[in-house]
Amino acid sequence: MNQQLNLHQDRLFPADATQRAIARRLYEEVRGLPIVSPHGHTDPRWFADNKPFPDPATLLVIPDHYVYRMLYSQGVSLESLGVPRMDGGPVEQDSRKIWRLFAQHWYLFRGTPTQMWFQHVLHEVFGIRERLTPESAECIYDAIADCLSQPEFLPRALYERFNIEVLSTTESPLDPLVHHQKLRTSGWKGRVVPTYRPDPVVDPEFAGFVNNVLKLGEMTGEDTATWSGYLRALSNRRRFLAAQGATATDHGHSSAITYDLPRSRCEALLAKAFAGNITSIEAQEFRGQMLSEMAQMSLEDGLVMQIHPGAYRNHNPSVFDAFGLDKGCDIPMRTDYVHDLKPLLDRFGNEKRLTIILFTLDESTYSRELAPLAGHYPALKLGPAWWFYDSPEGMRFYRERVTETAGFYNTVGFNDDTRAFPSIPARHDVARRVDCAFLARLVAEHRIDEDEAHEVATDLAYRLAKQAYRI
Ligand SMILES: [Zn+2]
Repeated sequence: MNQQLNLHQDRLFPADATQRAIARRLYEEVRGLPIVSPHGHTDPRWFADNKPFPDPATLLVIPDHYVYRMLYSQGVSLESLGVPRMDGGPVEQDSRKIWRLFAQHWYLFRGTPTQMWFQHVLHEVFGIRERLTPESAECIYDAIADCLSQPEFLPRALYERFNIEVLSTTESPLDPLVHHQKLRTSGWKGRVVPTYRPDPVVDPEFAGFVNNVLKLGEMTGEDTATWSGYLRALSNRRRFLAAQGATATDHGHSSAITYDLPRSRCEALLAKAFAGNITSIEAQEFRGQMLSEMAQMSLEDGLVMQIHPGAYRNHNPSVFDAFGLDKGCDIPMRTDYVHDLKPLLDRFGNEKRLTIILFTLDESTYSRELAPLAGHYPALKLGPAWWFYDSPEGMRFYRERVTETAGFYNTVGFNDDTRAFPSIPARHDVARRVDCAFLARLVAEHRIDEDEAHEVATDLAYRLAKQAYRI
């Protein structure tokens, strides 16, 4: 049996020879373009401190919920994978043991995008040429650990080697941004910028909402118990993040619902949220109103708005109680954009100066709702295939469903949306290959000419993200 780890040069390209030849030519042109990563969840501390990544498991397994959710689904406990518990209770500390456990279950990832990304990381970032198996686990662990002790594998060196032009992180308005501030004064030329993610202070059902809003008031010198003080405080923190390089906001609401309420209703909802007697329907109304308020603020301060609805967050209460947020238990929900966005679009849909980027976890909305909306309203753009669809099949499906109605130029390039820093080049490479494969079919069917396809390939890999996110 072949135990070599190979990355085939034609991976993800069409099997048909004519299309494959075109895809190769297109890819040749975009493979080396710089990476623009306008949305993600890497830790700014890595780049601010530039300390070595600790060990293979801490870098590649413990922080990546794509990885451990699969193992969890097969009965492997999160404790045994070293995922920290909320109560500080015992979890596996031996990184080598975690890695071995992971390697024993590696076969579970066959056919998944995680396998593609991970193999790319092993092969391209760490120079591994052997397949990960229970037998090779130790040897591969040592090889990666050895790399991590070298200066070429420090976070800033990797950033440069990955040819990243800009990398966005995601922060709460309550974040003092110490790492970003340190970065800005460090003299390093890498560009790591924050994104304003206000969920903790605009969602009355977010844990600690009242304290968060009070803290927001302290940080800004505003009385956030009043509607006008609350809005001024939010706007103040937007300006603060923008001064640290932010160009965008991000909103992770459970639905796309928006409202355009009279001021008296807004004041009443805020008072109820403060009193702790807001109902779940009213909380939804509040969140929906806040999307409209954020759009209004974006019109004023120029921040691009991203809306990421449709996740049933923390679906598994046992895991949530023991391990907290973002542990791979977010599940897609049916999402209605046509009705839910109407109040916001009635007010802002025709604003050419505003950019609202829509994402979905509900793939059935691509051709029915999202492409027609983005193909009409000047304020709307369509974000790339995201979570569960940020996969070769998902990306292909996305292009097939949206291009005829929204074109390429109402989309915004690619987001890797990742916490797993070493996988950033892998994810962009997958997106570039899938887009080239899609374009190759259009060329082979004589629907566009090859010179047009070359231009589009470069736009999808590089230019559109810079344009849409104003970076
Ligand atoms: Zn994200």
